[in-house]
Amino acid sequence: MIYLDNNATTRVAPEVFNAMQPYLTEIFGNPSSTHTLGRQMKQAIDVAREQVAALIGAADTSEIVFTSCGSESDNWAIRGALSAKPDKKHIVTTQVEHEAVRNLCDLLESEGYEITRLGVSENGELDLNSLRDALRHDTALVSIMLANNETGVLFPMEEIGRIVSEKSDAFFHVDGVQAVGKIPIDLKSTEVDMFALSGHKLHAPQGIGALYLRQGIGLQPLIVGGGQESGRRAGTSAVPNIVGLGAACKLANESDVHERIASLRDKLERQILTTISNTLVNGTSAAGKRLPNTSNISFQYVDGQNILLHLDAAGICVSTGSACHSTTREASPTLKAMNVPYTAAQGSIRFSLGRYNTEAEIDRTLSVLPGIIKKLAEMSPY
Ligand code: PLP
Repeated sequence: MIYLDNNATTRVAPEVFNAMQPYLTEIFGNPSSTHTLGRQMKQAIDVAREQVAALIGAADTSEIVFTSCGSESDNWAIRGALSAKPDKKHIVTTQVEHEAVRNLCDLLESEGYEITRLGVSENGELDLNSLRDALRHDTALVSIMLANNETGVLFPMEEIGRIVSEKSDAFFHVDGVQAVGKIPIDLKSTEVDMFALSGHKLHAPQGIGALYLRQGIGLQPLIVGGGQESGRRAGTSAVPNIVGLGAACKLANESDVHERIASLRDKLERQILTTISNTLVNGTSAAGKRLPNTSNISFQYVDGQNILLHLDAAGICVSTGSACHSTTREASPTLKAMNVPYTAAQGSIRFSLGRYNTEAEIDRTLSVLPGIIKKLAEMSPY
């Protein structure tokens, strides 16, 4: 199986599995217990917190709170920020956020909040003047992702943070789920207040996430109960998963695989564009403005879902736009916001590479793809 769907989820790294294993077998106490096993569990959480803090450049380990996933982190950050500023009812976000932010903003709109959804250019980039214009005295929160899950386009988090803090007293929340482990991040040198991440995007298991909360920001908990995570997130800590997230962050911090991944991605992209007609890349090609692993390519006039199924039959896993859209025929909101024409949006495929991909796998993909596209183009109703 050739797995080119690493933005959907990643396989658990052997280093991560090995780190977790003792906590699924012989070390099994509740970290809130004061006996020896409990203390061992607590120590393991402390180490993982340091590992997460190190990867994202937090100033202090107390800024990391473990959650169950990226969606929980996003939801908590947004709900928490709003309840900390009850008199302010305006939110600034973008049209291209992941559902975890986008659907919550839609819900908040129905609850009486006013939402400004910033658009993007045809390359998927944000116009910072539109952000400047959108900020108001009653803006409670700015929620803007760091890396887009469908196109890999990066938004300039540092600059956005400066603008938000100069022009408003709003909180700045960043959905960093797709960026962590793929590009260097140093939150202490930014104006970011809250930053969401998710383990399964960087070779930790599914079901573990974290929220970075800048020192001094006290958010009302989303999950109320026991005093875990210093009273900020109730629920018995998922120690094996937390250990796994820590090990995944350590792995990402220690091994530089991004150049290799980027060169494989570039080869895949270049050859598709030169050997298959009617293809285009969705998202900027400017250096440093896109994740090194992601390539969203439109095979115009061909149905993306059919491409996915044919690739799957050839043992190659990709995704159409975002995994979450795989059951609908509608173009994704991200591609719509980029004004990608319907016939191109329908034929869009996201290739997202990872640390385990080899050149032979890319060559194999490049060898089967032209035949699939030729066959589907002949059957195309367009
Ligand atoms: N934000 C982004 C940008 C994502 O890509 C995802 C998952 O695809 C999420 C949030 C949600 O993360 P999780 O699956 O851990 O809830």
